[in-house]
Order: sequence, then C-alpha cells, then structure tokens
Amino acid sequence: MTLLLVGSSNAAIGFPPAMELLQAGGNAVDAVVAAVAAVEANPDDHSVGYGGLPNLLGEVELDASLMDGATLATGSVGALAGYRDAIALARVVMDTLPHVLVVGAGAARLAAEARLEPIDLLTPEAERIWRSRLDDRLPDDSAYLARVRDLVAGLARDPEHPDPDPVLPPDLASASVAPPDPPGAPTPRPLRIPDDVHGTVNVIARDAAGHLACGVSTSGWAWKYPGRLGDSPIVGAGNYADDRFGAAACTGRGEMAQRLCTAHSVVMAMRFGRTLDDALTLAAEDLHALPDPYKSEVNIVAVDRDGNPAAVSTVAGKTYVVQMSEMAAAEVRERRFVPGRCRAA
Ligand code: ASP
Repeated sequence: MTLLLVGSSNAAIGFPPAMELLQAGGNAVDAVVAAVAAVEANPDDHSVGYGGLPNLLGEVELDASLMDGATLATGSVGALAGYRDAIALARVVMDTLPHVLVVGAGAARLAAEARLEPIDLLTPEAERIWRSRLDDRLPDDSAYLARVRDLVAGLARDPEHPDPDPVLPPDLASASVAPPDPPGAPTPRPLRIPDDVHGTVNVIARDAAGHLACGVSTSGWAWKYPGRLGDSPIVGAGNYADDRFGAAACTGRGEMAQRLCTAHSVVMAMRFGRTLDDALTLAAEDLHALPDPYKSEVNIVAVDRDGNPAAVSTVAGKTYVVQMSEMAAAEVRERRFVPGRCRAA
C-alpha cells in the first residue's frame, strides 16, 4: 500500500524522519509524532513549539492533539507551558490516561511525570516580535486586540477599588516599552516579523497497513488571551482521523473551526458519500458563511480512505506538502482556493 505524508507547508522539515519510519514498517501514529516533533524543535518556526510566539502576557502556551484512525484513540494537551514536546505529551495522554484532553498546570505536571525535558520556550527573537507588535498595535483600533485588551484590563482591576478607566496589568504595561540592551550586548539580528502571526503544523500519515493518523501542534494565535485554546487540541475541530472515511486537519482561525467542527465535518461528509473535494468545498463554504467579527483564513488538509490527499484554503495562494512512498522528498502543492468572505489573517 502506498505510504503517505500530507501536511501544512511547515511540516516538510519533519517528513524525512517520518517517511523513514513508515518505510521501516512503522505505524502512522509513530510517523505523525516524529514529523510534528521535528517542527516543534525548530526555533525558526514561530507558530509551533520552541520559538513559538507567546500569549498577550508573553508566555508561550502550546496546544497539540493526536488521533489514531484505526482505533479513534485520541490525546490532546492545551495551554502547555515550559515544555516543547506537546505532541509527545498528547501521545502520553492517549496511551496512558483514561482522558483525552489535559490542559495548563495539569499538562505541565504530566510532562514532568513523563520525564519530558523542561525548557524556556520563549526565544529572544519570539520575544522581540511579541514586544514589537504590542508597541505598534495596542493603541490602534484592531478589533481583536482591543477586545483582548479590554478583557485583560477588566480582570486586572481591584474589585475593592473599581476604576472606571481600564488599567493594563503590570506585565502588559511594562511590555509596551522595550527594555534597554545591557552594556556590551551583541547587536541583535534585524527584526523579521512574520507575515502570519499565527500558524500550526498539521500532519496526516498513512502507513503500509492503510491506517491513518493525524497530528496537530501550535503555539496558537500570538497575543492570544492567556489560557485560550484554539482548534488544534480540540479533536473534531482542528484534527480528526477515521480509517473508514479519511482524515482532516486545520490551520488558521481556530475559533471558526471550533464552531463548525471543521475537521470532523470533512470526514463526516465523506462518510455520507461526498468526494474528498466536495467535502472540503462544503467545509470552506461553511467557514465563509460563518458570522464572525474576526473572520479570517482557515486552511484544511485532508486524505480520503483510499489515501488520496487534497487541501483547500479560504484565501488564495496557500500551499501544503505531500510525500508518497515513491517520492524522494516532500512536494509543495498549491491548495485549492475556495473563494468567499474570509480574508487573509
Ligand atoms: N489554528 C491555530 C489556532 O487557532 C492557529 C493557526 O493555525 O493559525 O490556535
């Protein structure tokens, strides 16, 4: 049976170890974990794992999920701080706990129990990007940031001394002024702010036995409200795999995929007889039609039960990657653009 890896474009870095595993007879779950782990370790990817962009308060919080299409077993972690290996921890949840989703302090506790390596996830470059956008953006009228700022300011008020003026919490107030460099500090690299201040890695694998697995990992939307979970750790929203029908995974504005259970919808459309392309078109049309004041792009990669890959985006010009057994390396392909009302984030 043809081996297959399909993913968001940033997954390509993880395909060599994953394909090697599949070719050695490894299963789809092992391959997905290997591919996603390589992306989590890449400090230049500011959307996943080590080097990911932090939340509003400057803390990097990771979300990840894993699903085995053969058994429908799943494991997820959310708002994981202080550990890089979110997909490995999702696997620990799947394999060792009678639960499917563990978040926050519980996730960090489980990581310590599983003897994962603790690490400060915030790289100097990610911190500089975080600070620069706060300085530029807080005073403007960006709906998303204004709303988040109001929420944080409201929670920071002392209930005993209500203050009609929103007050920034101390962490955030000090964040709006970059600290001076210490004397003798090396000149920092020129700041490169990524066009996308969000992102995720998606990987779907099909092994020699024809089993599917799907993995998703992200540091989530940069400057997100602390504790916010997107679609990535929510099985059904950002990730779904069922050998009988296919698999799907999402990147982009997670709140939209959460509301529509997008990954599950794609797989269920195939269950009810739609082709892979039809299923993806339906999901994209639903995303465009969703009333959402923060509406922005969502991208979906998917595989049908016969191992055919496809991908769509609600915005033009997006790519994904595919590698099959007979290919020497991952191939970059254009996602099919389904036009509508979503704009690029
Ligand atoms: N889906 C991710 C989230 O909402 C972000 C992204 O892929 O852009 O956390």
